Amino acid sequence: MVERSAVRILVLDDDPFMLKLLGRMLANLGFASVALCDSGQAALERVGAAEAAEPNLILLDLNMPAMDGIEFVRHLVGHGYAGSLILVSGENDRIVQAAEKLVQAHGIPVLGRLQKPVHPDRLSELLEKWVPRLDAGPGAAPRIYEAEALRGALRNAEFVNYYQPKVRLADGEVAGMETLVRWHHPDDGLVPPDRFIGLAEASGLIGELTRQVFAASVTQAAAWRRVGLALPVAVNVAMDDLASLDFLDFVAEFTARAGVPPHDVVLEVTESQLMQDTRAPLEVLTRLRLKRFRIAIDDFGTGHSSLAQLRDLPFDELKIDRGFVHGAWADETLRAMYDASLSLAWQLGMSVVAEGVEDRSDWDWVRRTGCDLAQGAFISAPLQAADVPPWIEAWHRRRPAAEPPPRGPGRTTE
Ligand code: C2E
Ligand code: CA
Ligand code: CA
Repeated sequence: MVERSAVRILVLDDDPFMLKLLGRMLANLGFASVALCDSGQAALERVGAAEAAEPNLILLDLNMPAMDGIEFVRHLVGHGYAGSLILVSGENDRIVQAAEKLVQAHGIPVLGRLQKPVHPDRLSELLEKWVPRLDAGPGAAPRIYEAEALRGALRNAEFVNYYQPKVRLADGEVAGMETLVRWHHPDDGLVPPDRFIGLAEASGLIGELTRQVFAASVTQAAAWRRVGLALPVAVNVAMDDLASLDFLDFVAEFTARAGVPPHDVVLEVTESQLMQDTRAPLEVLTRLRLKRFRIAIDDFGTGHSSLAQLRDLPFDELKIDRGFVHGAWADETLRAMYDASLSLAWQLGMSVVAEGVEDRSDWDWVRRTGCDLAQGAFISAPLQAADVPPWIEAWHRRRPAAEPPPRGPGRTTE
């Protein structure tokens, strides 16, 4: 049983009555540290405040007028939030269910959902089962990093690229590697990107980080080519990178010098970032494409792109977010999102990657839909560069795509 007085809870709801009610329920259950916020902005200020300890649990109302619950979660991820969530909503089950998938896709544990009007018994039940990741105190919670530490890490070359394979569903051929950066922290070990990318963006260090990741990735692609592996590499880029013309020159020159064809270099931009402002990035993306680099739209389904934006941006590849892939074969709502994304991408001439293919059921199902490429734990976790060639050999032996695709509706026209 956790010491309830040590647990920090934040309640976010735009309805003042609901806030008070939930606050009172939590106090009655013995939780002493409860912060009440009536807007996403106020809650984010609290989560990001250096002087206050981060909450261990957030009760989140999904429907708020200014910043809705989904957008709030995206910001939380950017802050490297390490606690858990309870989703509170008056919405019908389907919306809450989709929201829950999304939150989990971002790696934040969801204790459960509360339907409005909230019953104290149900709240108490969720909290009973919960073991917060706070253990003995502040030392146990994942560390929040400062910009200065990140600057030092860039100087000391502490960032290491991992590579996750992407394979063709039709025949299992390896189609490329996505570069995923990790921080080899001298004290904390391997730190995942969700805990520092947001900080790098907020502190103006993302440009330098992207360059280091890009340079290492293209250098690695050149090394693989020398041993007969012509593996395309993908690199994640941030909006800030695309706002500068320097970046374009850097990418083009570095790739040419490494002797890697631009066609084998993919730049991935997330859908949610793209929608903030498309003018400056549009120019850089279009010029990259003219130079024969390939451009992918990442985490598709989690942003709010309009059809016009999709039509106007020169994408080659669309990656369906894993929140709409893993388990979609058993969930009608997810499947509807997935199907819509797939046919939209095909109509716009893009090839489609299903992310988050975690098990054989996911694999069989995405294959049956006729999707072009797959990525995920079922195929391989992100690997260190040295482990890539042996993985390829092993995959060729075990790939489950030698047999014809399982029966079912698929792509009929190309
Ligand atoms: P992403 O681009 O969507 O990358 C895929 C993430 O999903 C990776 O997490 C990967 O390890 C994870 N993943 C792969 N297969 C599965 C699966 O089957 N199931 C589940 N649940 N997860 C899977 P990772 O490496 O922690 O990266 C998280 C995010 O950090 C990336 O999401 C990307 O947005 C960002 N990121 C990573 N490297 C860079 C970088 O160099 N620059 C920038 N700007 N962002 C980066
Ligand atoms: Ca990506
Ligand atoms: Ca993604």
